[in-house]
Amino acid sequence: MPASKPLHYLCIRHGLMERLRDGETVICAEGYLFVFERRGYLTAGSFVPEVVLEHPNLVQQQYEEFVHAGSDVVLAFTYYAHREKMALIGREDDLETINKRALRIAREVADRTGTLMAGNISNTNIFVDTVPDYREKIWQIFKEQLEWIVEAGADYVVAETFDNFGEALLATQACKEFAKDIPCVVTLTSHQGLVDGKPATMDGVKYNEAFNRLADAGADVVGLNCTRGPATMLPILEKAVKVCKVPIAAVPVTYRTTKEHPNFISSIDPISGEPLFPVNLDCIQCNRKDIHDFGKRVQELGIKYVGLCCGNSAHLTRSLAESLGRKPPASRYTPDLNKHWLLGKDDKLPSLGQESKMKYAQIIPKVE
Ligand SMILES: [Zn+2]
Repeated sequence: MPASKPLHYLCIRHGLMERLRDGETVICAEGYLFVFERRGYLTAGSFVPEVVLEHPNLVQQQYEEFVHAGSDVVLAFTYYAHREKMALIGREDDLETINKRALRIAREVADRTGTLMAGNISNTNIFVDTVPDYREKIWQIFKEQLEWIVEAGADYVVAETFDNFGEALLATQACKEFAKDIPCVVTLTSHQGLVDGKPATMDGVKYNEAFNRLADAGADVVGLNCTRGPATMLPILEKAVKVCKVPIAAVPVTYRTTKEHPNFISSIDPISGEPLFPVNLDCIQCNRKDIHDFGKRVQELGIKYVGLCCGNSAHLTRSLAESLGRKPPASRYTPDLNKHWLLGKDDKLPSLGQESKMKYAQIIPKVE
């Protein structure tokens, strides 16, 4: 093998599908859009990943941070870097640059860290009959992004966040046409559409049927991403794992969605009752234990492709990885409360101050 070949050529035996077939769980950290909005590098509303153009070094660092925390995949940050979105902010001329740059940096980080690199296409928000030639427009969006993904040497494609089955099917067909030599993970997102009282896509296809039709169209992995938190996403997938023809993906948002408010768009502030989406969701943020429990549950269900979407950050990705028995580099610094001055019992803790420690101890809630 010539020395100039990138590392991923050497790892080809351990591509996405080989890992899943071997029973490995693959973790894909996502949620870049919300990460960079919180950090002040892109605007909520238009939600275009301009940070790739303005601060590519920060994107590289974020890729590395998620790998450090346990992600097996560097997902190129091209979510919403498509033609429609770039036109919305008057930057259509930067379309090719933003896609190629996000992909190139992702490939470099993946090669350096021995992880997989995935390209990313997504919902266009124009899958509506009122847009003239909308199918043709969407097909062109997928085509150009997929061609850049293949050119960048991606290991697989993530096609995600489709609330209409029709658009997910179109994305799957585009993957088979323009990126046919690499696997595609196609995930729907679940708002509140119901058919016969059961959750369904916005265009009225029940999930189990939708997953199998996507598999029949060539999707290698199918499932759900975004919109629902672990508590309201898993009940849909529990049923899907029993009937689905291909591996299932579970990539929830990291928010505490409930039966009454099953997705983060409908979520309300538990104190004020005000709507939270999209910028005030912090008060229903999942904590590390929620994510650890999610990781345990997906293992019980046999779901092998997992990740975290909007709301994700490194400490949650580490919790997910550790719930699966992993020890990513960030586990070197995983909490060790036995060395905490108040909570711990480590021999090396100073015995001075025991009296005040006793006083503090009284305020710690006791679990019955
Ligand atoms: Zn999301």
